[in-house]
Amino acid sequence: MAIVEPGEEKTIGRRSLRLRSPATLDVLGEIEVQTAADVRAAVEVARKVQPEWAALKVAERGRILARAIPALIARQDDVVDTIVRETGKPRTEAFAVEVLAACDAIQYWTKRAPRLLADRSVSLHLLKTKRLRIAYRPLGVVGIITPWNFPLMLALNPTIQALLAGNAVLLKPSEVTPYSGLLLQDLLRATRIPEGLFQVLLGDGETGSALVEAGVDKISFTGSVRTGRKVAEACGRNLVPCTLELGGKDPMIVCADADLERAANGAVYGAFSNAGQICVSTERVYVVDEVADAFTQKVVEKTAALRQGASGEFDVGPMIWPAQLQIVERQVEEARARGARVLTGGRRNPDLPGLFYEPTVLTDVTHDMTIMREETFGPVLPILRVRDEAEALRFANDSRYGLNANVWTRDRRRGDLLARAVQSGSVVVNDCMLTYGATESPFGGVKESGIGQVNGENGLRSFCHAQSIMSDRFGAKNEFLWYPYSGKKLAWLQRVLRWVWGTPLGRLLS
Ligand code: NAD
Repeated sequence: MAIVEPGEEKTIGRRSLRLRSPATLDVLGEIEVQTAADVRAAVEVARKVQPEWAALKVAERGRILARAIPALIARQDDVVDTIVRETGKPRTEAFAVEVLAACDAIQYWTKRAPRLLADRSVSLHLLKTKRLRIAYRPLGVVGIITPWNFPLMLALNPTIQALLAGNAVLLKPSEVTPYSGLLLQDLLRATRIPEGLFQVLLGDGETGSALVEAGVDKISFTGSVRTGRKVAEACGRNLVPCTLELGGKDPMIVCADADLERAANGAVYGAFSNAGQICVSTERVYVVDEVADAFTQKVVEKTAALRQGASGEFDVGPMIWPAQLQIVERQVEEARARGARVLTGGRRNPDLPGLFYEPTVLTDVTHDMTIMREETFGPVLPILRVRDEAEALRFANDSRYGLNANVWTRDRRRGDLLARAVQSGSVVVNDCMLTYGATESPFGGVKESGIGQVNGENGLRSFCHAQSIMSDRFGAKNEFLWYPYSGKKLAWLQRVLRWVWGTPLGRLLS
């Protein structure tokens, strides 16, 4: 429910927000904005119930949380209906990402968490009289703040991981798509986790900022660079760890030897699925001169064939949030005014009432245009012709973002070299996006695209404190380094230094 306007004050002291469909503009409901006092009360409840949950074995937590899968399967139509109503996205997209991928995430993490979070023994290279174990301990109460573009999945994925790790979770979904947050609440209720272990806090930035200040033990934030910076500042002040999954300006590099048909299909899918409102969508293309015309022609034909709509079968839905539509319009107008050519699209769809912007392909863009430098987060694909791959790489890397990238070539070695040379949190060769969806792939941006990672082993473990438990093995009455100190002890230590780090044999054995 994407258009958010002030609503009527129903409860004294609480603002309310009225929501409208981005596709039809119909009023869909009102939510009350939860206040700082509400957030603090929720943290208190979560803190009380969390130890009981943390006392369960990880496998037991997994067994309980896996009950969300049958609940999700049983409610699949309802889930898709709610998400389509909130976002206007095609049902196939909602089903693939918010039902299939969500089931996969629950299954994947509940099955593997017991192994990934099991205590580990580490053999010590030097202190042979000690034993080291690493225990993955819960952090306590985790605050999760999410955006509107994949309203269920982006909330569910970190939530499942944080819960499996033994934490309580407070979710603040986007005010643009609050009902998907409530869907997650329903699904988790069906698992019969303890009451209060997972709570949803509805509201806008006021509620999000209150959550960051409420004394939680970690913030997992997904959203824009602008808000991410504020969250990081507050977390820094409060010394609360945070993971920031932020925006991107993902480049696509098309080499002369690329399979142009596949690359063009990939460009169109990568740029226009979810109407371009994907953090890892393709936002700018660099195509080498000798194949630029053929590639561009294919992309334009395929883009023009996309069906935009609000009901029935269609490929591209509306923008979900009015402010984002304005950014798209502004960036395209600026590019056009500075000499870019619109090959298809380039305007709001005059036949549809909602926030529809036509899938747009631009050429004759330059590296300094805003459309090539700032996140668009909409259905626009600017194509820049380059001399060679080196120039493509230079432009791709001259960016403040570094979330994802894609590279297209038939030469595996060239693909690998280019992938390693792109300054990006993740890279896809001869395909696009993917990296967030593949649960085992660590995902997170470099530069201003984020801090920390979700998914992969480290993503799951980032919801824990890796506690080091060191114990003595032999129980001697005293230790060599303990008191008393003496000249003899110092001389012995000097001999150790010479032998262990000063001889090839010592270096080999240590
Ligand atoms: P946003 O930053 O406006 O909002 C994100 C969330 O933060 C919302 O729930 C919002 O209510 C909340 N919020 C707002 N102000 C806050 C504050 N001061 N303190 C705490 N929380 C606050 O982002 P958006 O417009 O909802 O989402 C679009 C952005 O998200 C895009 O930039 C996109 O690239 C990014 N995104 C990133 C990823 C990723 O994994 N890297 C995934 C999806 C979307």
